[in-house]
Amino acid sequence: MPNDPSIASIARLRGEFSCPAMEAGFLQHQSAEIRSQLRRALLLCSLFYVLFGINDIALLGPERALAPVLARVCMPLLAVLGLRHASRPGASVRAPYHVASAFTLCWMASFLVVTWCRPQEVLLHGMSLAIMVIVFNIFIPNRPLAAPLLACGATLAFLAIAFHQHQETTRHLRSMAVLLVFANVFGAAAANRFARLWREQYRTQQVLTSLSMRDPLTGCYNRRHLNDALLDDEMARARRDGLDLSLILCDLDGFKAINDTHGHHAGDLVLQRFAALLQSMTREGLDTVVRYGGEEFLVILPETAPEDAAALAERMRAACAVERIAFGDIALAASASFGVAGANLAAVRTLAPHALIAAADELMYEAKRAGRNRVRARRLLPPIGMAA
Ligand code: GH3
Ligand code: MG
Ligand code: MG
Repeated sequence: MPNDPSIASIARLRGEFSCPAMEAGFLQHQSAEIRSQLRRALLLCSLFYVLFGINDIALLGPERALAPVLARVCMPLLAVLGLRHASRPGASVRAPYHVASAFTLCWMASFLVVTWCRPQEVLLHGMSLAIMVIVFNIFIPNRPLAAPLLACGATLAFLAIAFHQHQETTRHLRSMAVLLVFANVFGAAAANRFARLWREQYRTQQVLTSLSMRDPLTGCYNRRHLNDALLDDEMARARRDGLDLSLILCDLDGFKAINDTHGHHAGDLVLQRFAALLQSMTREGLDTVVRYGGEEFLVILPETAPEDAAALAERMRAACAVERIAFGDIALAASASFGVAGANLAAVRTLAPHALIAAADELMYEAKRAGRNRVRARRLLPPIGMAA
């Protein structure tokens, strides 16, 4: 998914996000809603469709109605099987769409059987199909482009049968064809509009979530996101899996002097470059960089031993110290001090998130006191007598 959701575009014709990761995120986020819509749609459609079987029996008599009635009762069975398939554990986020397409296809095949068996009522069938086209497009949740294509295919097959049987005048059949084209065009336009609106709403929600979690200057996560259980969750996971977790707390050295000498704009630039450096040196999707204070950053490193975190902090320190940031015709230089604390969470079971941050903070100040531009690291051990 793009870091900035506001730039995610929605393909006009397809009605889906152009970026596959954003579309997958959308489907994942909406999966419960899509499944519930599918359940409602398939059960209601099956119910109505089977009830119309009474009409088949009344019109054709029990014997001749056998084929259409059998074709109709397949639908609730198919609906139940499809719904079970879409809600089985581990089902893909696209499974409800596959089920929707399969159901629509079978519904149409069954409807064509009914149409074939009752050719005298072709105009009534045409009217039913016009309603079904709207149902395919709007009521049964499906991929925005799949539903209109299926509806269109069904309409062509139906018209082929109607013109082949030719039980009505050509004038009537032609009027019915126009009505069906009308239903298809407006159904497809409504499906596209609905799909786009749904995705626009999701995009707005993602933008707002991202704004509330991130610091606007550096793009790093903010303190609010950290406090919203970010570290608690990581520590709980590490404890559950018996893994190490480490923190790096770092603070730019003499940063006030950069502001005082070159202005806040220069200071902002240094902050942005330092944050970018931290982000580029951490693992995307696993590590987290948080702007902890003005020129202070916290890096959360799951599944990382403190010794490895210290080595990473040393690489970060060295990279920061050699970097030169062009500001007008000046090359700004900066350095930072690093405190690294980590533990095996299964061994130090009572370690609280704030205590781990406090340990990293203490080590960072130790680095400052030792002359700045250095790293201090420590592995936190269980209290004596409590070692695992
Ligand atoms: P030390 O080596 O002890 O860390 O010294 P320092 O100068 O880095 O630390 P100090 O706490 O004295 O100063 C931090 C400065 O960071 C003061 C504050 O104005 C500045 N600052 C905080 N947030 C921002 C920001 O978003 N932009 C800019 N330009 N400056 C900021
Ligand atoms: Mg500082
Ligand atoms: Mg500071």
